[in-house]
Amino acid sequence: MTRKKLLSSLNAKVPRTGRVPRDMFVLGILVSAVALLMWNGSYFFGYLSRAEGGFTGELQISSTTLTLNVALILFGWRYYVDLQQEIAKRAESEERAAIMASTDGMTGLLNRRGFSERAELLRETAMNEGLQLAVISMQLNRFKQVNDRHGFDVGDELLRRIATSLSDTVGPERALARISGDEFAVISTIQADGREEANALAGAMLGVATAPIMIDKTLVNVGAFIGIAAAGPEEVGVRDLLRRADIAQAHGRQGRMARPVWFNDAMERELFVHNEIEQGIRAGLGHGQFLPYFEPQVDLKTGQIRGFEVLARWHHPISGVVQPGRFIPVAEEHGLIDQLSEEIFRQALSHAADWPSDIQLSINISPSQLADSWIAQKLVRILTETGFPANRLTVEITESSLFSDLEMARAIVNSLKNQGIRLALDDFGTGFSSLSHLRELPFNSIKMDRTFVRTIHEDREAEAIVRAVTTLAEAIKIPVTVEGIENAETHEKVSTLGCTLGQGWFFGKPVPAHQADQLLRTSDTPDVSTPAAKSASA
Ligand code: C2E
Ligand code: MG
Ligand code: MG
Repeated sequence: MTRKKLLSSLNAKVPRTGRVPRDMFVLGILVSAVALLMWNGSYFFGYLSRAEGGFTGELQISSTTLTLNVALILFGWRYYVDLQQEIAKRAESEERAAIMASTDGMTGLLNRRGFSERAELLRETAMNEGLQLAVISMQLNRFKQVNDRHGFDVGDELLRRIATSLSDTVGPERALARISGDEFAVISTIQADGREEANALAGAMLGVATAPIMIDKTLVNVGAFIGIAAAGPEEVGVRDLLRRADIAQAHGRQGRMARPVWFNDAMERELFVHNEIEQGIRAGLGHGQFLPYFEPQVDLKTGQIRGFEVLARWHHPISGVVQPGRFIPVAEEHGLIDQLSEEIFRQALSHAADWPSDIQLSINISPSQLADSWIAQKLVRILTETGFPANRLTVEITESSLFSDLEMARAIVNSLKNQGIRLALDDFGTGFSSLSHLRELPFNSIKMDRTFVRTIHEDREAEAIVRAVTTLAEAIKIPVTVEGIENAETHEKVSTLGCTLGQGWFFGKPVPAHQADQLLRTSDTPDVSTPAAKSASA
């Protein structure tokens, strides 16, 4: 609600005490005016009649006039008193409206508007006293989960408690606001070399947010991400300072940094690029810019292609081919991954539908897709439309996607399995509690992350891990695909350690569909020497 609307709605509720007296006042003036006319008239006519020796009503008119004038004075006085009362009430209601317009109803802290007003005052102080301004932006972590798990009442109470503690921490000389749902901001004047001062304040705020809070016998535990920006009051406006602190905070959130993060110019450039990518994805979707590339997955013994992993590539009209690491996270963040994946999967599956029936296809799904209860149905629809058999499709799921909501992941994984789709645990070893995931969910295969393989020659530990994972996988009868085999040495090493399936640049980089066709044609006959031969000729 705008301030204007709020003011008028509040004013509408204030009784208009001046209305009746004002009408009476007007009436009084009119009556008095008439009386005065009559009075003056009576003198005039009296004079005439005296002159002519006739008219005698002068005394009667004068007393009427006197009574009316007294009434006028009384009305006027009443009006004055009521008017004063109305002015006082209006002033009070305007003040109330102004406070409401700049205060957050839930916590009693300032809201964004109030924050800007107070910030401008602090800016003036900073200018007059040669100080700097620091803005601290804080967003709670896992607040949504608190609402989801314990209900909105607990969530609201949590916000109020945190607001109270923050108020005590921040003190009255600074401005503290609840900027939006779970976001708070503080603006403070600091000395020109006051970085430590701002750090200490941000640290204390973090302490407030991370302290466990008992609400209705429920121990609630959240955290926060914090960004800080500081500048001279003439250098950067308050709005920009808050924006910078927000950028730093978002940076901290992305990197899961459990400490306050200071803004720097590189973050702004990064944000610019990020926005460009987002706009680019929106413009490119549906225009053939996103294509599936195919990376061969081979039998390590024979060198024969067993299948392909589908990897997204963006054919950007200006930048050329863009790797998924650049655009998949942006698509995920802006809710575009669903559409993008569908575009990739549809092309890949319809192209591969004609390939030999023993060739498998693996696709990757993002963490956010594993929170979409319709994902299985969406995949089945694509399978039906493209004619690709479900039992030749493997869905790769990273461990990190299982982390946020295991129950949801389990439900989706089960419905995928029920459709006959196979499942692979991607990037195995990089996430948490890998073994428990293997026990909990019905995976058909494991993909060992390439970080273990990369150092397998120099690092005995890496070798031991690869060996252990292979032995474990053998014991639970789940095949392992080794990622990132870049050369013949690695190929040999992982083969001797018992790995049977692999992929990597040694066997071939991800290629467009027509090149994958070619690879399939040329590797029709098994050729055990393929990798070694390649390495010899390299
Ligand atoms: P990933 O699923 O683990 O895919 C394997 C990545 O390792 C691919 O990177 C592949 O090109 C790269 N790679 C394969 N062999 C080698 C090697 O020998 N050496 C090195 N250095 N790298 C190798 P890419 O294509 O850049 O994909 C990166 C990640 O992006 C993928 O990791 C996957 O998580 C994600 N991704 C790719 N396409 C899609 C997609 O369509 N949807 C989703 N959700 N994620 C995708
Ligand atoms: Mg993968
Ligand atoms: Mg992987």
